[in-house]
Formats: sequence, structure tokens, C-alpha cells
Amino acid sequence: MSEGLSHVILNASSADAFDKALNFYCAVGFQIVSDSHDNDQDFTSKIAWLALFGGKTQKDLTIKLKLNPAFSPRAALCQDIDFASQEVVLVIATANLQDVETVLTESDRHFQKHDIRSEDNKHFSREIYTLDPLGNVIAFTNKASPFSSVLLEHSHVQHQGVPPTVELASLHFGHKKKIGVLTSGGDSPGMNACVRAVVRYGISKGCEVYAIYEGYQGLVDGGSFIKKMSWIDVRGWLAVGGTSIGTARCMAFKTREGRLQAAENLISNGIDSLIVCGGDGSLTGADVFRAEWPDLLKELNETGRVSDELCQKFQHLTIVGLVGSIDNDMSSTDITIGAVTSLHRICESVDSISSTALSHSRAFVIEVMGRHCGWLALMAGIATGADFVFIPERPPAEDDWAAVMCDVAHRHRHLGKRKTVIIVAEGAVDKNLNAIKAEYIKDILTDKLGLDTRVTTLGHTQRGGSPAAYDRILATTQSVEAVEAVLRATPESPSPLIGINNNKVTCGPLMKAVELTHAVAEAISQKNFARAMELRDPQFADEYDAYIASTIIDDTTMRLPEHQQMRIAILHVGAPAGGMNAATRTIVRYALNRGHKPLGVFNGFPGLLNGSIEELTWLSVDGWTSRGGSELGTNRTQPDKDMGMVAYQLQKHQIQGIILVGGFEAFSALLKLEEAREKYPSLRIPMCHIPATISNNVPGTDFSLGTDTSLNAIVEACDAIVQSARSSRRRVFVVEVQGGKTGYLAVEAGLATGANTIYIPEEGISLSRLQADVQHLIDLYNDDPPEKSEGRIILRTETVSDTYTTDVICNILKDEGHNIFDSRTAVLGHIQQGGTPSPMDRIRATRLAVKCVEFVELHASAAFSEAHANRSEQPIELTHAKESAAVVGIMGTDVKFTSVTDLLSETDLKNRKSTKSWWYAHRPLVDLLSGRGLFTSREQDEQAQQQSS
Ligand code: ADP
Repeated sequence: MSEGLSHVILNASSADAFDKALNFYCAVGFQIVSDSHDNDQDFTSKIAWLALFGGKTQKDLTIKLKLNPAFSPRAALCQDIDFASQEVVLVIATANLQDVETVLTESDRHFQKHDIRSEDNKHFSREIYTLDPLGNVIAFTNKASPFSSVLLEHSHVQHQGVPPTVELASLHFGHKKKIGVLTSGGDSPGMNACVRAVVRYGISKGCEVYAIYEGYQGLVDGGSFIKKMSWIDVRGWLAVGGTSIGTARCMAFKTREGRLQAAENLISNGIDSLIVCGGDGSLTGADVFRAEWPDLLKELNETGRVSDELCQKFQHLTIVGLVGSIDNDMSSTDITIGAVTSLHRICESVDSISSTALSHSRAFVIEVMGRHCGWLALMAGIATGADFVFIPERPPAEDDWAAVMCDVAHRHRHLGKRKTVIIVAEGAVDKNLNAIKAEYIKDILTDKLGLDTRVTTLGHTQRGGSPAAYDRILATTQSVEAVEAVLRATPESPSPLIGINNNKVTCGPLMKAVELTHAVAEAISQKNFARAMELRDPQFADEYDAYIASTIIDDTTMRLPEHQQMRIAILHVGAPAGGMNAATRTIVRYALNRGHKPLGVFNGFPGLLNGSIEELTWLSVDGWTSRGGSELGTNRTQPDKDMGMVAYQLQKHQIQGIILVGGFEAFSALLKLEEAREKYPSLRIPMCHIPATISNNVPGTDFSLGTDTSLNAIVEACDAIVQSARSSRRRVFVVEVQGGKTGYLAVEAGLATGANTIYIPEEGISLSRLQADVQHLIDLYNDDPPEKSEGRIILRTETVSDTYTTDVICNILKDEGHNIFDSRTAVLGHIQQGGTPSPMDRIRATRLAVKCVEFVELHASAAFSEAHANRSEQPIELTHAKESAAVVGIMGTDVKFTSVTDLLSETDLKNRKSTKSWWYAHRPLVDLLSGRGLFTSREQDEQAQQQSS
């Protein structure tokens, strides 16, 4: 094969073949440099010069295309022949084989794909072979050079130590995709992050992106409602709530006439793909539009509104759905964009209401949004420790639910609780589908229990405001996938819906998701509540059970037989993290419901050594869900300070199960306790560890408690810093974040705040990297409008380098930025532990806590049963199995226990971190969405323009 050629001459034997070849090569990215007739000859000797500009990474390729009637054309190759075995005229290296496939599919060209494994088995490269219209075999490869194993394609797989690079399109495709993006239906926080990511990622992929203002109304009205977006247009949008391109409820789009007009507007703007961010109504509309598209096109053509040529060109409309909805009411995705922020607002309100309720000993009935979906109500109930929740999918089982509710409220009051909080979803019903309304509940509480009861309807505050970190990240990663889905789409593929399952962004059929969503409402209307619960995400039922098990003081139905009741110790280890108290509260309450004795160990292992152990009661942990820090007290001391004394205290207090809540120190402690079992029988009890650390470095879990709280604290601080930087002058802030030897916080906060770049321990810092970053900042500032002072931030993980400290980097930037920009530092320090824990951390804590109590029961049960059968005393040694010393983790949507010894294989003990880091796949996006590569591609554009003019 003629690898490495940079110039070829191709002959066409007819004018038709010449034109077809010209079109083909333009479609795969070549640009016409000159197109001429040889002066003194007739039209039968046309020549065109075509060039493919390789930019900085690749050689330029030129083709001299010649019309030469004397040339005898090649015999056409049969499609069954392996093209790779034939003489290949041209090899084109590109990062975007997907684009190549799209072009070839769209132009109906047969192609063959070969996936080739590298000799060291580490990489796959791909080659695509096709025939040009002249019958020449040409190949596309994603190898940087024919002789190297380096791939151009950037992969989302995890790297360790090697900075992943993002290759921007090295080919500029002739058929630039034009993508329209709109937000529709009820607004939700994160919609702006969607538009920003679609615009920026789309541009980086060589597409043109158009914002369609005012949802479908803008599509129907056209004109100035459809605006081409530039990179700069979406600056600062991550932090802005609602949707800056507007949304509307559009009746016209529900009519065929309206959709006909919308189709005409799309075509007249050259838009061939649409990304719609909205709720199930908007996405239903999107799917109707796509299904109708061929008919609409036909009518537009027949009535002369669209020419034959355009009709041919716009035969297929690509539609991709993103779910923006605060209710989390869409099936096929675990969570929708905006739901978490809405939950933040609800929890803030309920927390505030709780303090006044407590002061006045009042009852509050709080109505939250959710017509067919109880997600917000249930999650708010869990996160705030509400006494009762009413949701549409799971109505109270009893006919006289009012009596049950009063009984629960009465029992709680009887224990000394001064407040009663009941959360009702807007669409809550009883099992006969009669609405359960807040006012009615209020009347019951007032009349039957004599409680001073108030109703609060939260209303539009729930629409959110500035998006939470989770929504910004979700919206960004999903929108990147939406653009990828546009680029992958073929006429045959059904419209996709971008979702998230098991903590991974997914792409599934849109219509199926819409159907399933409607099925929930239908199941409720048919009183098939089991089906309604089933159609929700898998965590929903789990969380409902956890709520019931831990919130409502039991009437003894959950209680275990006496011989299985245990004494369970709870201990906090390491630095404080949001959710530690929430976990402890749930352990205590669920344990009490099961008949166990929960024992709080104060002040970590030193407390255990001193015997600072106290029985915790139902009321003693009241209100702990919303408290930050550690109520029990926490520190880094390890048990091996005096393992003998640890064993002694466990035996003395007859502790039969131990739950550690903490970070990497807790993990190390568990390892040591497990090792010491050999020597000390009193350690042969079930032991588990709930990871709680802002660094997210504990192996065996995707998320530790506290990470979400911390991300929100960082995001809030960074928003304020950017605002300050922008207000005063052109300034770059180097913001130092925590994380130990793990870059999780920097990567995720970088994505959520739109940081310019990040320095993380996984990559380190080098002088050349700093130089490139300085240059990039200079480029960005030079490109800013002169009258604007932009603020930018760089996040640096505290341990990334001893040499390039936060101050050193700041000084380098200051010096090198000359008078173009200034630099400052901000060390966030302990602020990152957050004040009040975020709802996500509280909910995760509740779920894990219930599972841990179940874990302790499970691993003790065999020993108890044996003792019971032998009528002997409760044994001291309950278990020696390695599985009974485990870390509990959130893995995707599941909760899993992994033995601490098994986790050693995925632990980097020296750097105190997990070797698995799913979040590292987000790393390249930080740089890409902040504009790295923007100037390279602009230079390429300019170069191409100069050459062609
Ligand atoms: P959401 O997207 O938040 O569920 P709506 O149900 O109000 O909000 O839908 C938003 C918009 O989507 C509607 O105003 C309408 O323009 C469009 N839409 C909804 N359903 C359909 C449908 N069946 N056919 C066409 N358009 C629809």
C-alpha cells in the first residue's frame, strides 16, 4: 500500500466521473485549491487541485484531479473483494473515522471496516476502505502514522499517568453538520449547561450550531429566533439557572401546519439535526416531528416551498433528545437534568421550615412538584428526615391512611419530637386514586392530633436557580454524547435519547423512553402501583424501603427475634465529610427498628480505646441528616495504636458488629482490624466501612459520602471567584483544591465550573505544559472583546507538585501574562468540607446505612442460629470469613460489598487511592470545553481560506 504519500494524480475518463470524484473528495474533507481548464485546450481537459490540510499533526495531502479522455478507466472492483488486499492509492489519517463512516453512508458508498490489534495488544486501530468514483481504493485510518501504534482517536478509557489528549477534527468535512439546539417545556436548571456543551463540542467537531430561541415556538416562527452560535456566546452559562435561549409551551407545534412551518424554517437555515432538551412532552413532540418529516418534506416540495435540490439534501432529519426536567419523571434514565438542583431548593426550604416547626412545636405539610412522579417528594423526605411522605406511585396501603399517618406522627411526638414534617407530591393519591391534598392532611393533623399545623406549597422556587454541580456535569457529559449521537446517526437509526444508567451516559431509543414514561401514568391510573414502581429507576424502590425502614419508628413488625438482636458500634474515622451524620442517624434508627442496640463511639479510635461509648437513642440522632461535620467526632488515629486495647474494649462492651464511617483512614483501619482477627477473637465480628471522604479515593465505590457536598462547595466558591475576577480586570485565579493524590475534585469541579484547565496528580505538571497553558490563556484573552474583562480559573490539586506550587504557578502566569492578564490565588481549604450536606450525600448515606445494618445481621446470623439451636449463650466470635470485613460501595446504581482484602488489588496504598477512576474519562472535556484546540482549528480554517482565495 502506498502509505505516506502526500501527492497523487488521479485521472477521470469522463466529465461525469470527474465531477463525481470532485464531489466525493470534497465530501471527505478535501478543499478545492484551484479548479481550471487548461487554457489552450477545450473543456475536455479539466484539472482541479484538491488539498486536505493536516494542520500541525498531519502532512497536507494534495490531489491533482485530471479529466483525461485518453485514460482508460479501471475495471470496477467487486464489493466482495477485500479492498485491503488491493493497491491502495491514498491513505488518509484522521481522528474522526465516525465522520468518515457518516459521509460514506450518506453518499451510499460501499465500505469495509478492519479493526486491527496492535502487537502489544493494547490498542485497536481501525481502517476503513472504500472506492472513489473513479474506482481507486482509498483507506482511512486512525493511526497517527502508518508505522506507529499511536491512535489519533481520543479514547474515553481510563489512563494512568499519561495525559489524555483531545484531537480536534484534523479533517474539516465538506458536509459540515448544522445542528439546531432548543430547550422546551418547563425550564430546568442545567439547560444552559446543555446548550453550552452542544455549542462548544459541536464547534470542536467542525459543526455549525444554531440556538433556536423560545423552544418549538422559535422553530415555528423562524427568522431571528434561529441564531448561529459562536464559542463566546455561551460563556458563563454553566452557572446560570433556567434557560437563556428561552422556552415556551407551543400550541402551534402540536398542529401539522405548525410543524410544516418548523420544517421549512429548519431547511431554510440549512439545519439537518436537532437536539431537543425538554420533558416528556417536548420529546414526544420531537419524535412526532421526525416521524412526520418525510411527509412534511414532500408537502413542502409539492407546494413549491422547498426546491427539489433541497428536498433531496434534507431527506433525513436527525433528532436527539436530552431530558431536562426537575421531576425526574422520564423512564430509561436514572436521573433527569435539573432534578438534583430542584431537590437542593426543596431541602433548603424544608430545613428552614424544620427550624421554625421545632421552635413552635408545629406540624408542617409541604407540597412539592411531581404530578405523576414522587421522586422529589420521596428524596426530600429521605434527605430531611420527614415523618411521612405521600407519592403517586406508592399510595398508602391502608384504606384509612389518615389513621396510620396520625399514629406515626403521634408515636414520634410521644418520643419527644417537637416537629412533624409531612411531604406531599402534587399528584399524590390514595389507593383508590383520590387525591391526597396538603390542606386535607393539615385538617386531619389539626383535628385528630390537635397539632398546630401549617401548609407550605413550595411552587416555583423548585425550578432551581443556579444549577448544582451534579446537574452541570450531567448536562455537559450528556450533551457531548448528544453531539456524538448526531454525528453517528444514520437514516435508519431511530431517534436517540441520551440518558444515564449505572453512572454511565447512555444512548437509547427515544420513543421507547417516551412510551415507558407514559406507561407510569397509565399504570397509576389503572391502580397498578407495583408496575409504576417497577418503571422507575432501580434505586427508587430501594430508597423507598430505606426511607420506611429508618424514618418511621417501628411498631415492632420489623423487629428480629431476641437471639438475633445485636450490639452494633458506629465509629467515625478520618476527616469530616458531608453525610457522616446522616449515615449514623439511619444506622441508629434502622438498628432500633430491628431490635439492636446502636452504640456511638465518640472521637474515633482514641474514643474506643478510652471506652467513650454510649447507647444512641431514636431521639438523640434527630435532625442529624442535615448536619455537616461529625457529631460523634472524628480523627485519623488508627487502631494499631493499641490493637490489644481495641479488642479488649470490643469484648468489654460486647460489640457484635462495627460500622466505620470515613475515608481512606477508615479503609486502612478496616484492613488492620481484619488482619488482627487472627490474634483477637473479639474482632471476629462483622465489620464494614461506609466510605465518606471528599477526595473520593476509597476503593470499592464510585462515590464516597461527602464528595457531592464538597463539589457543590467548590462550585459555589469558584462561581464567586470568577465573578470577582471578571468584575475587576482580566484575571486568572489559580484555585487550590483538596483531594490528596486523587484528581477527582479538580476534574469534576473543573467540568462544573468551566475551568480553563486543571493540574492533577494523575498527570503532574511540567514546564512545557505550563508554557502551553500560558500561551493558551494569552490566545484566549487576545480573542476576548477588548471592552470586556473576563475572569478565568485554573484548578490545582494540592499535592500535584512540590515545585509548581499554587503560588509559583500564579507568579508564572502573572509574569508571562505581561499586561494581557493578571493572576491571583485562592486556596479553598476546609471550606471544601461544605456546611450542610447536600441532598445527594444524605440520600446516599441513608441507602448505604440500611444496607450496612443488613450486612452486619447477615454475617452474624449463622453463628446466632447455631448458638440458638444449641441453646448456648450468644457467642463472642461471630465470623471469621474475609467477606465479613467489607467496604460498602455505590457501583453504578447498585450497592455492593467487597471484602477489604479483595480490594487490595485495586488499591494504591502508597498514594492512598483507588486505582480505578471512572471520572478520569471526563478529564479531556475540561480542556476541550474551555477552548483548547480552538486556535489550532481557527488557524487551519484561516490557512485553508488563504490557500483557496
Ligand atoms: P415538557 O416537555 O416539560 O413535558 P410540555 O408537555 O408542555 O412540557 O411540552 C412542551 C411542548 O412540546 C408543547 O408545548 C408542545 O409544543 C410540544 N409537544 C408536546 N407534546 C406534543 C405532541 N404530542 N406533538 C407535538 N408537539 C408536542
